[in-house]
Amino acid sequence: MLPAWSIVFGIAFGAAVGSFLNVLIYRLPRNLSIVFPPSHCPACGHRLGVRDLIPLLSYLIQRGKCRYCGAPIPVRYFLVELWNAALWAWLWYEWLVLGEAPGRFVLYAAASSVLIAIFFIDLEHYLIPDELNVALLAIGLLHGWLLQGVPTDWSWASLGVPSLRHAALGALAGAGLFSLIAILGRIGLRRDAMGHGDIKLARGMGALLLVPGVFVAVALAVVLGAVVGGLWALMRRRAAQESNGHEPPPEPEPEPLSNLVLACALYLLWVDALITLLPRRVQQQVYASMGQADEEEFVETPTTLPFGPFLALGTQLVLLFGEWFAGGVRAYLDWVGV
Ligand SMILES: [Zn+2]
Repeated sequence: MLPAWSIVFGIAFGAAVGSFLNVLIYRLPRNLSIVFPPSHCPACGHRLGVRDLIPLLSYLIQRGKCRYCGAPIPVRYFLVELWNAALWAWLWYEWLVLGEAPGRFVLYAAASSVLIAIFFIDLEHYLIPDELNVALLAIGLLHGWLLQGVPTDWSWASLGVPSLRHAALGALAGAGLFSLIAILGRIGLRRDAMGHGDIKLARGMGALLLVPGVFVAVALAVVLGAVVGGLWALMRRRAAQESNGHEPPPEPEPEPLSNLVLACALYLLWVDALITLLPRRVQQQVYASMGQADEEEFVETPTTLPFGPFLALGTQLVLLFGEWFAGGVRAYLDWVGV
């Protein structure tokens, strides 16, 4: 058990990792190298020194502007560092100050950070890099393996006790549910109901949160998505009316059903996760030979919002407030007599 003041380390480490997340958020969807070139201002190209890279503080001291050319730095850089610092501080307090579970702290903190990167990349680019989904799956498997048999908030459900087998079952449940929605939606609505990235994300969520937890996270994501998505669509419609005369872009052609079913089968068997470990050039050849583009093409329509950010938020909520949600679900199940 660490003293309460040690939480400053949680904040500092969290902010520093948040700074690295900003690099991932910018470079991963653009297929740029993570390590090269060193950080520089995208406006003037000036290489950033230590003074410019202090998490949280540099942004505040420079008032959100590049020190060399004065170009504004997106507020996202600050938000990512702040958000990650807050999550790490919370988890630090919960698992290292109140509890004595360093393994749980490390795994939950790593997962939370991956989810922040997924949140911002999907929000901006409508895609989730495979590397991040594989990372979440790996964290989930590590969680099942390292904490095998250690009680969790969900231990009242037999599948909620961590183990490698239960992590695999959780992954199957998450990916299975979303594959089903994607395939039924494609048949019933004749349009793409679910992005491939979301299916792979649900798989990682299931591996980490295990069977009761993953369904709670998905339910939270649906509620959050309905509220935010509803407001967003309303705002978009109003904006469209004001600038009237702008035709919404046509709906994209849905992908062939056979392609979708094949892809879902690969996701359920984790074949794509193994392919992600190959060099990028080989990956592209493999996907090309299956008649699938490596990068998902997405045409934005006025009523679409990516679902990944909401899944990421739902997962974080379950990681942070697991005890509370688990108690609620259990009380409900007791009440209905299951
Ligand atoms: Zn600059």
